[in-house]
Amino acid sequence: MSARILVVDDIPTNAILLEARLTAEYFEVLTAANGPEALEAIEKSKPDIVLLDVMMPGMDGFEVCRHIKSNPLTQHIPVIMVTALDQSEDRIKGLEAGADDFLTKPVNDIALLARVKSLVRLKTITDELRLRSVTGEEMGILENSPWDSNLSAIPGRILLVEDNIADARLVCAALSPPHEIIQESNPVEAIMKAAEVSLDLIIVSLNLEAFDGLRLCSQLKSLERTRQIPILIIISPGEDGRLVRGLDLGVNDYIMRPIDENELFARARTQFRRKRYTDKLRQALQDTIERAVRDGLTGLHNRRYMETHMKTLFESAMNRGKDLSFLMMDIDLFKAVNDTHGHDVGDKVLIEFAQRASKGIRSNDLLCRYGGEEFALIMPDTGKDVAFQIADRMRSAMADAPFVIDDGKIVLNITMSVGIGSIESPMDKPEDIMKRADKALYQAKREGRNRVIANAA
Ligand code: GH3
Ligand code: MG
Ligand code: MG
Repeated sequence: MSARILVVDDIPTNAILLEARLTAEYFEVLTAANGPEALEAIEKSKPDIVLLDVMMPGMDGFEVCRHIKSNPLTQHIPVIMVTALDQSEDRIKGLEAGADDFLTKPVNDIALLARVKSLVRLKTITDELRLRSVTGEEMGILENSPWDSNLSAIPGRILLVEDNIADARLVCAALSPPHEIIQESNPVEAIMKAAEVSLDLIIVSLNLEAFDGLRLCSQLKSLERTRQIPILIIISPGEDGRLVRGLDLGVNDYIMRPIDENELFARARTQFRRKRYTDKLRQALQDTIERAVRDGLTGLHNRRYMETHMKTLFESAMNRGKDLSFLMMDIDLFKAVNDTHGHDVGDKVLIEFAQRASKGIRSNDLLCRYGGEEFALIMPDTGKDVAFQIADRMRSAMADAPFVIDDGKIVLNITMSVGIGSIESPMDKPEDIMKRADKALYQAKREGRNRVIANAA
């Protein structure tokens, strides 16, 4: 795992020490000696993680952290604060500034590497999502919701796995309200709940009587349905080894007993914030994928999508010895609509056309905008005769009722011609049936339009 780490410390020996340890683990290390230098380095060299000293003259670590977390371009970079004293006020202040984790001086090697590795892993996921999803427009959406916005004020739902009654009470007191807490001490039930209920965080004690909390974490992180949910573990002092294993398994954060309520609240909030941010990225990616396969005007799938699926559906029909029909539909004399009423009206006709066509199809059929005023429909398990009936019904759906545009200002009679191609021999290829449909469509046009042809002459 290679990553670029920025070490910020005003005392050169501290910086050199950390640099040496991280370089030995093959991380690329940059250093900065004060806040402004750090912010400049972050902007210039986009580190994957920032190790930030709290006590620095001038701009202190809290302020640097706030800057990083309030800038939309840097808010996703994890920040580990390095504090001189293990004081809970400092940790809370740091969490409030947006810090992702803490290390106490003198920095313990195991803890350092465990934290860095776990945050690098998290950052890799976020980066990948950012890269894949982020077109200019979506970046706009994301950047308008900075890390620090009141996203984190939204109440979350938490699953708590803790059999110690006193600690469970403490956790509830710290988080609820505003958050909703579901308690579960049976591991099997906990996994079921995590898979079924939508959760923002799972808190797991590593000191359960009946089973190993780490095993539960490992299962939660390996199941498709639950691996996205952040996990925070509760551990007792002196359990460094188990903590490191937990972080290696993908556990997102931890809190040490005795539980400080304020610290727990702040840590939970950091996890919520991060989850909401990655959820947004995932949604943006989903939208991008959707857009790439859909036609912007009608919302139907586009030709590229159809051609990919044509292959799959065709092969499946051939393998199962089933029918498959392909319809090519073309609006009649559409150019005249544009010429007479303008392109905008033409667009509205296309939208209405797509809506009417969508009503006539079954859930297995694939309707798409093939291009311009041409639409295509793939119908699995459908022979030529049935295809003809469906096509003619769709033809009627267009021809029998006029298209009413702009609240009745324009009323148009719109018709379409349809050509059908079906599988006719085991030797057929997708191109063959598409060619048949095309030829039939051409014939329908030639014979006077507003008609369906299934057997091209
Ligand atoms: P035919 O009955 O022979 O199919 O005649 P037609 O006028 O429909 O066919 P032609 O191919 O000559 O014209 C199709 C027109 O469709 C031309 C083009 O400007 C228009 N068109 C293609 N895409 C769009 C679009 O997205 N919006 C609008 N408004 N018009 C479009
Ligand atoms: Mg046409
Ligand atoms: Mg055409």
